[in-house]
Amino acid sequence: MPRRTKIVATLGPASDDPQVLEELIRAGVDVVRLNFSHGSAEDHRRRAMRVRDACARVGRDVGILADLQGPKIRIDRFRDGPVTLRENATFCLDASLDPDAGDEDAVGIAYKHLPEDVSAGDTLLLDDGLISLRVTAVEGPRVHCQVELGGTLSDNKGINRLGGGLSAGALTDKDREDMKTAAAMEVDYVAVSFPRSAVDVDDARERLAAAGSRAGIIAKIERAEAVEAIESIIVASDAVMVARGDLGVEIGDAELPGVQKRIIALARELNRVVITATQMMESMVSQPAPTRAEVLDVANAVMDGTDAVMLSAETATGKYPVRTVEAVDRVCLGAERQRMTQRSKHRMDSHFERVDEAIAMATMYTANHLDVRAIIALTESGSTPLWMSRISSGIPIYALTRHQSTRRRVTMYRGVYPVDFELEHFDPNLVVRDAVDCLQGMGAVADGELVIITKGDLTGVAGGTNAMKIVQVGA
Ligand code: PGA
Ligand code: MN
Repeated sequence: MPRRTKIVATLGPASDDPQVLEELIRAGVDVVRLNFSHGSAEDHRRRAMRVRDACARVGRDVGILADLQGPKIRIDRFRDGPVTLRENATFCLDASLDPDAGDEDAVGIAYKHLPEDVSAGDTLLLDDGLISLRVTAVEGPRVHCQVELGGTLSDNKGINRLGGGLSAGALTDKDREDMKTAAAMEVDYVAVSFPRSAVDVDDARERLAAAGSRAGIIAKIERAEAVEAIESIIVASDAVMVARGDLGVEIGDAELPGVQKRIIALARELNRVVITATQMMESMVSQPAPTRAEVLDVANAVMDGTDAVMLSAETATGKYPVRTVEAVDRVCLGAERQRMTQRSKHRMDSHFERVDEAIAMATMYTANHLDVRAIIALTESGSTPLWMSRISSGIPIYALTRHQSTRRRVTMYRGVYPVDFELEHFDPNLVVRDAVDCLQGMGAVADGELVIITKGDLTGVAGGTNAMKIVQVGA
């Protein structure tokens, strides 16, 4: 059985070599992530071109995700290199300080609104929580703090407030420019960093559309207030990312596992896609094999129903990018073999609004209760396979479409596999025959096996799926 869970791999210096990139795709990468926090527009364009070339060589559709940098809530720089903050010492975050004049007593801040957003008693976390400061007083542009958890602090480290509440908007001027670059590159997904609410997601969608892109929008859940507004953010998005790096800092590590599970369940329930991200196989940045804890982390996300798991530094800057993808592939497959991941009980009593959704649900019910080898969805927009993939199953769902954009979009959907398929007949029986032949040609089905096909009366019409048919291969 093909792996159902999708693998997103971040590209970077460790994966720029065309040979390595090709190996990554062959090892099972479904979607590549371009991290717009690093590199120039030209770097991203070049990377995207290399990806398209590698896909053509391998003969597979791979999605491209452009991940916007978002607001930089960061400190500025130190005059004489990193400083050491000692417990109980005082330290000042000073919006009026020269950006290069930081020392052991104070440092400038790139995020000038910080003094308005915080007050005495707040906890500020620097460098992903490695350093913790308690705000003692705010005086004009200066935030006076006492060091709670000390350590070495270097230039441009990030600032989070425990509990969230920093007011920076999600889209910066740089993000708006980067969206135009992403649109011109025809990426398949754009990820919005640090959205606070559905309004930030709507805003991004509007701007992206204005730039001429119909890419799927991914909301990165990495602020405490995004967790509060999770349902409306999910509905406003095509996919959400559990961005555990920043999220863990904002809500605390104790809350993180529960929130991750809740987001995965809710996204599936609301017919949206969900990606679990950050530090999934972090030790493989420098080690050739994952820790047991990492193996369990990836497997647990799969068992909870995530569509995709994401690799960051592991494939962007790590020593073992291909081995990491191989390890994730193996662990996902193992988790998917567990019976618990293959059946769902939910939606037995839901009401459906649309004919195509009802057909998708009927198909999954039938597939999960009859000996079916594969599901074939003849699709224009990919929405029928999306609905199907919200139901847990062990049966592969093949999305047959002539649209390359749809094929690349479904690379993120769990259990859905894109297949290039051109309709050559108007006679419905001949279309069914061609579709089954196509799968048989790929070796996905064999004579005598049952497949379910969904389709509409009219080809070329999105949302028109109104029929399911069970056929025996070769009969
Ligand atoms: P980042 O987002 O890698 O862009 O910071 C992911 C996360 O915060 O987990
Ligand atoms: Mn982040």
